[in-house]
Amino acid sequence: MLKLLSSTAASCPQAHAFATVPALRTKPSSSSPLFDALSQLTRLTARRSRTVTYRRFFCSDSSGDSGEDGSLAEVELKDAKADSEESDPKSSSAIVSTSPRPEDYLTVLALPLPHRPLFPGFYMPIYVKDPKLLAALQENRKRQAPYAGAFLLKDEPGIDSSGSETEKSVYDLKGKELFNRLHEVGTLAQITSIQGDQVVLIGHRRLRMTELVSEDPLTVKVDHIKDKPYDKDDDVIKATSFEVISTLRDVLKTSSLWRDHVQTYTQHIGDFSFPRLADFGAAISGGNKLQCQQVLEELDVYKRLKLTLELVKKEMEIRKIQESIAKAIEEKISGEQRRYLLNEQLKAIKKELGLETDDKTALSSKFRERIEQYKDKCPPHILQVIEEELTKLQLLEASSSEFNVTRNYLDWLTALPWGSYSDENFDVLRAQQILDEDHYGLTDVKERILEFIAVGKLRGTSQGKIICLSGPPGVGKTSIGRSIARALNRKFFRFSVGGLADVAEIKGHRRTYIGAMPGKMVQCLKNVGTANPLVLIDEIDKLGRGHAGDPASALLELLDPEQNANFLDHYLDVPIDLSKVLFVCTANVVENIPNPLLDRMEVIAIAGYITDEKMHIARDYLEKTTREACGIKPEQVEVTDAALLGLIENYCREAGVRNLQKQIEKIYRKIALKLVRQGALSESAVAGEVVETDNAKAENVDESSQKIAGSDMKVEAETVETSSHNQTAETAVEAVTIQTDDQSQSDVDLKDITEREKVQDNEAAKAVEKVLVDESNLADYVGKPVFHAERIYDQTPVGVVMGLAWTAMGGSTLYIETTQVEQGDGKGALHVTGQLGDVMKESAQIAHTVARSILLEKEPNSPFFANSKLHLHVPAGATPKDGPSAGCTMITSMLSLAMKKIVRKDLAMTGEVTLTGKILPIGGVKEKTIAARRSDVKTIIFPSANRRDFDELTPNVKEGLDVHFVADYSQIFNVAFSDEQNKEK
Ligand code: ADP
Repeated sequence: MLKLLSSTAASCPQAHAFATVPALRTKPSSSSPLFDALSQLTRLTARRSRTVTYRRFFCSDSSGDSGEDGSLAEVELKDAKADSEESDPKSSSAIVSTSPRPEDYLTVLALPLPHRPLFPGFYMPIYVKDPKLLAALQENRKRQAPYAGAFLLKDEPGIDSSGSETEKSVYDLKGKELFNRLHEVGTLAQITSIQGDQVVLIGHRRLRMTELVSEDPLTVKVDHIKDKPYDKDDDVIKATSFEVISTLRDVLKTSSLWRDHVQTYTQHIGDFSFPRLADFGAAISGGNKLQCQQVLEELDVYKRLKLTLELVKKEMEIRKIQESIAKAIEEKISGEQRRYLLNEQLKAIKKELGLETDDKTALSSKFRERIEQYKDKCPPHILQVIEEELTKLQLLEASSSEFNVTRNYLDWLTALPWGSYSDENFDVLRAQQILDEDHYGLTDVKERILEFIAVGKLRGTSQGKIICLSGPPGVGKTSIGRSIARALNRKFFRFSVGGLADVAEIKGHRRTYIGAMPGKMVQCLKNVGTANPLVLIDEIDKLGRGHAGDPASALLELLDPEQNANFLDHYLDVPIDLSKVLFVCTANVVENIPNPLLDRMEVIAIAGYITDEKMHIARDYLEKTTREACGIKPEQVEVTDAALLGLIENYCREAGVRNLQKQIEKIYRKIALKLVRQGALSESAVAGEVVETDNAKAENVDESSQKIAGSDMKVEAETVETSSHNQTAETAVEAVTIQTDDQSQSDVDLKDITEREKVQDNEAAKAVEKVLVDESNLADYVGKPVFHAERIYDQTPVGVVMGLAWTAMGGSTLYIETTQVEQGDGKGALHVTGQLGDVMKESAQIAHTVARSILLEKEPNSPFFANSKLHLHVPAGATPKDGPSAGCTMITSMLSLAMKKIVRKDLAMTGEVTLTGKILPIGGVKEKTIAARRSDVKTIIFPSANRRDFDELTPNVKEGLDVHFVADYSQIFNVAFSDEQNKEK
C-alpha cells in the first residue's frame, strides 16, 4: 500500500481535509505504463509495511465551532486485506475491507457537511454534535458497516453562507427539514475513526439521495452514480488534464502549501485517471462550496475537468496576487531592516577604520542638550531643521568639508536663544534711579525712556522700537544706550555700522561660501543669550555704500518693526523674530541718515553741555569712575573746583565730555604713578637704602628737562594712619616726580624725570600722601592750555564779525572776515574763500548785494561796494549742517568794513538773509547758544522765528545772555553798530 505522509502548512482555508489514497487504482485494466510501475511500487511498499500504515493529515477546521483549529489527527489504518483488494478489482475503492462492499450500501445515514463537499479519495474530519447520529455511526462501525452518506448542506435561502448563524443551526436541523436542505449528490464516506464527537471520513464514491427512510437520525436511500464513459485517449480531455496538472505545478511553485500532495499525485498518478485528477484539483482549490459541489455533481469527465481547470486557474491567480502582496510587504519590512543593518555595519566599519570619531556622537548630544532647554519655546519649524541637520551630520564623513559646514550651522542654530527672554523691568522709579545714577542731565532722553517703560507696564509687553540719539561726539549717546539697557533689565549689544559697505555684515553670508558667517544680529543673539536685548547701532549716519546690495535697505529690514518679526539671515536660513528687540541708534548728523531709516526712528537730540553741566558731569560721574578705574581712594586725592573749571574752560571746550574724560583720566593716571612711586620710595627707605631710580633717564635729570616739564609739582603730604603701624607720623615729602604728557603739544617729548630723595623719617615710610590738584598746578598734569581758535579777538576789528554755526561736532563760534583787496572805479567784486559749497557761495553773493543796498540807504554817497574788490573768508569748520545761516554775519562783516565801524563787543549772530533783508530761521539754537556761552559771548542775535526754540532752553543755558530776536536786517544793524561802541573807540 502506498505510504503517504502528507504534511501541510497550518492554514489551508480552502481544503478541510484531503489525502490522496491508493484507491485511485480504480481501473486496473488501464494500460498506462505509469500505472503498472505504480502498482508494482505500491505492492512492494505494502508488503514491507504490511500491518500498520500511518497517514497524517492536517486539518484546519471541519466544524467551525470546535475551536480546535489545526489539530493533528493521526489515523491508523489497518491494511490487513490489501492483497485481496488487489486481486479484486471491484474493491479497488475500498480502503478498509469491509463486508458488505461499499456499493452494497443503498440506505445510509446522511451526514450534513456545512462547508465543503467530500471528494472521493479525501479525508475529512467532521464534528457530529447530534448524539443520536453519533450513536448510530458508532453502531454502524461496530457492525462492520462503517459507511455513511456525506452531503453538502445548502445555504439557507436569503442568508449569507459565511454567517456563523448558519453553522450553529446546522446541528439543530432534523429529519425532513434537514433532508430538504441537503444537496442531492454527495459522497459515500467511510468512517475511519470516531474520537469524542470528531468523526474522520474518507470519501469513496458519488451517491445520489433518492428518498427519506427515517428522520432521526436521518437515513436516506441512495443510488451509486458513476462517471459517464469517456475516451481516455481523447485529445481534448488529455490536453485539459495536462493543463490542470501544469497549473497545479505552478501553484506548487508559488506555494509550498500543497507541494507534497501535488507532487505525489502528479508523480504517481500521472495521467491515468482524469476524473480523479478533476476531483483532486477541485478539492485543493480555493473554490467555494457551490463550485466544488458542481464538480462533484458533474459526471461528464471532460466537463468536470474544465470546471476544475477554472478553479485551479483562479487559484493560481489568487496565489499570484497573494505572492505579490506578500512580496511587497516583505520588501518593505526587509528594506527597513536592511537599512538598519547597513547603517550598523557602516558605523562598525567606520569605527574600525578610525573614520568614525566619538566626536560625532558627542557633537550630536551636545547640540541636543543645547536645544533641550528651548524645546518648549522654540518654533517647531526650527526644531525640524535642527533634527534634519542632526541626521545629516550622522551620515556625513567627519573629514568632509560638508560635515564642517553642517557642524557650524548646527552650532549657530542651537546657540541662539529661541524664545528665551529676560524679564523686563517695568518699574519706572527704579529705572529713573538707574538712569540718574549713570548720567547727569539728559532729561528729555530719560523722560522718553520712562515713557517707554510706562507704556510697557500698561500693555504688559514692551514692543520693539527704534530710538535714535543724535548729537555731537562725547555727549553720552553710547553710554546712555547702555544705561537704558540696564534700566530695562535687557542685555546690551553694540555694533557700529560706520563705513559698513558689506550687506553680509547684516544679513550674513550664504552657507555655501567658505568661512561663511551669520550677520551681526544673529551674532548678537548668540552673544547675549536672550531674544529681547537692547541693540545699539552706532554711527548709523555714516553707513557706507555697498557695491553689491545696499546696507541701508538691509538695515531697514532689520530695524523695521513691520518686517523684523521674520528677519531672514542668509546663513541661518530660518526666520528669526526680532520684534522684541529694542533698537537704539546713534548719529552725529541726523540729515545723513538714509530717509527710509529716519522715517521709522524716533530722534532724540542731545545738544551738548554747557560749562555748568560739564562741572557736574566731571565731578559726579567722570571723576568717580576714573578714580575707581585707577584704584585710587577718595582720601588720597583732591581736585579742586577751580582746577576742574580751568580744565573745562581752557582744555575741553567741545560740546561733549569725552575730551574732558580723557583729561581727567590723564590727571588720575599721573596721580596713581605718583602715589605708587612714593610708596616704593617709602618702602626702600624703611630698609635704610639709598633709593636710586632704575630709569636710565633718571641719570639725565637736569635743569633743561625740568624746564620742558614745567614747574615742579607741588605735593602736599598728609600723614595717614596706617594699619600696620599704630603710630602716626607727620612728614612732608617734596616733589619727587615731574612728568609731562602734553598731547596737545605733541612735538614735546614725554619724559619721566625722577629725582632721588632720601626719606628723612623712617617712621613715615608707610604714610600715604594726599595729592591736591588745583588751578595752579593743573598744567603739570595736563600740559599748557590748548590754544583756542574760537576766541581770537577780545574786540573784533573792522570787517570781522562772530557768527554761530552748527556742525557735526555741535555748535561753534567762528569769525567771518572781510577785507578790501583792491580799490578803483568799477572794481567792485567779491572773492570768497573757505570750504564752502554752492549754497554758501550763493549766500555770500546775496549778502554782498544786500549789504550794498543797505549801505546805499545809510550812506547814499559811499562808492565803497562799487569800487572795492572784497575778499570774504569763512573758516573751514563752519560748514554748517543745516544749510546756510551765516548770511547776516557776512552782511555785517561787509558793512563793518564799508563803514569802517567795529561791531559791538561780545556779540555773535546767526541767520540767513533774503535779498530784501528779511531774516530766515535757523536750526540748532541750543547748540549755538551753548557754543556762544563757551566763547563768552554776551549778546546773541537770533532770527525772531527761533524765539520759541530759545525759550524752551533750560534757565542755566539762557542765564545772563542778552538775546535779540530779529525779523529784518535793519534790527541787526542797530544792535551791531550801536554808536556807543564806536564812540568808545
Ligand atoms: P558718544 O557716544 O555720544 O560719542 P559716549 O557715550 O561715548 O559719547 O560718552 C563719552 C563719555 O562721556 C562716557 O564715558 C560717558 O559716560 C560720559 N558722559 C557723557 N554724557 C554724560 C552725562 N550726561 N553724565 C555722565 N557721563 C556722561
